[in-house]
Amino acid sequence: MSLLIKNGTIVTAVDEYQADILVEGEQITTIGKNLDYKAAEIVDAKGMYVLPGGVDQHTHFSFKYGDAVVRGFETSNAAAVGGTTTCIEFINQLTGKSITESVRKFEQEKVSGIAMVDYSFHGVVTDPTDELFEEIPTLPKQGIPTIKLFMAYKGACYHSDDSAIFRALQASKDAGVTIMVHAENADLIDVLQKQCLAAGKTAPMYHAVSRPPLVEVEATQRAIYLAELAEAPLYVVHVTTKESMEVVRNSYIKGVPVYGETCTHYLTLGKENLSKPDFEGAKYVCSPALRTPEHHEALWEALRKGWLNAVSSDHCGFDWKEHKHMGFDDFTQIPNGAPGIENRLGVLWTAGVETGKISRQKLVDVFATTPAKINGLSDRKGHIGVGYDADIVLFDPKWRGTISAKTSLQGVDYNAYEGMEQSGRADKVFLRGKLIVDEGKFIGQKGQGQFIKGKPFGLCYEGLK
Ligand SMILES: [Zn+2]
Repeated sequence: MSLLIKNGTIVTAVDEYQADILVEGEQITTIGKNLDYKAAEIVDAKGMYVLPGGVDQHTHFSFKYGDAVVRGFETSNAAAVGGTTTCIEFINQLTGKSITESVRKFEQEKVSGIAMVDYSFHGVVTDPTDELFEEIPTLPKQGIPTIKLFMAYKGACYHSDDSAIFRALQASKDAGVTIMVHAENADLIDVLQKQCLAAGKTAPMYHAVSRPPLVEVEATQRAIYLAELAEAPLYVVHVTTKESMEVVRNSYIKGVPVYGETCTHYLTLGKENLSKPDFEGAKYVCSPALRTPEHHEALWEALRKGWLNAVSSDHCGFDWKEHKHMGFDDFTQIPNGAPGIENRLGVLWTAGVETGKISRQKLVDVFATTPAKINGLSDRKGHIGVGYDADIVLFDPKWRGTISAKTSLQGVDYNAYEGMEQSGRADKVFLRGKLIVDEGKFIGQKGQGQFIKGKPFGLCYEGLK
């Protein structure tokens, strides 16, 4: 099977040019001007930007909070229509089980035969025993070169203390495993939450009050000190404040191998959303909390200048009615997280490229290319180049529409960007050469997604060793 994509404007993380792309089987085999090849299928991409399929390195399909379970991989067609062709899912270690066993069980039960885009995994440490630290160096063989530890959520099974993080960093570095942290000070949040509740402050807004920027800044700096002491690289997920970003930036400049991502909602949505009446504020309860415009601007600047290097969705599809209402009388019981995998490209384009905050090349960089590198997928994913998987988005910059839960495939009863006017969309999306989205509609099949093995030393691309 061959496919020729003609007349499009290819955008990569470093350049932009007009050329045709020949796909044979599942891979890009030729890129050139005016390719004259009798392909089985020819697609005219005139007027379209040709982007690599997105790599979303931060998703939670099938996450559990008490009895509440988010929408699973049966809604991963939402990723496809949003131009994302690979997602990297966080899998909690099951108590008494290894990361590898936990990931394989999750894959068999919840992903394999269901996923509609390609996928890879991060392990999440919940049981930091000696066996776990011995397992860490073996993870790259399983195609899982990244694990996350939570500094936040005191009392939850997935909370890790400093000793667990430090030992994980020590165990990771020679094996090329990247340690990721959710950086918030769990003890401070616990005190502030209890003080809010004791004062009768139970509404969603107090989620942000009890998680002020400093609890993130402190934990970010502490995690970096641990990495410095362990001489290991560190990846900080969802950096949301100016000061946390500066801590990451300044430490990197000093020579500590620390990197960070932010997320679509931390660039665009403000904490005032948490004050919406009739419990609508609960829709915006995610951790860290949403911030103010001053922080949004600092994060855009950080992307422009390369101080943060990826934008993820932190997709976590809890329903408002069924799930978020668990915390109707107590904001600490509202499940944390919001859906967004479908909107990452549209919002980044509309709020970033159209406004001149980032270039098209930078969008490709933070949406696809660098997330692929960080997670050891960059020999196949995240770039339009010969030998890469033919994960290709034909992006129509002229399209206009309005974001709404009603038209979304996320399967959630709300959308955090509801009513936002969107510029441009993924018109056609190819997954390994197969057309899975046409005119913005999903036309692929359940189970077409494949596990992609991550390779170790994903952060090495910037000279780490
Ligand atoms: Zn997350």
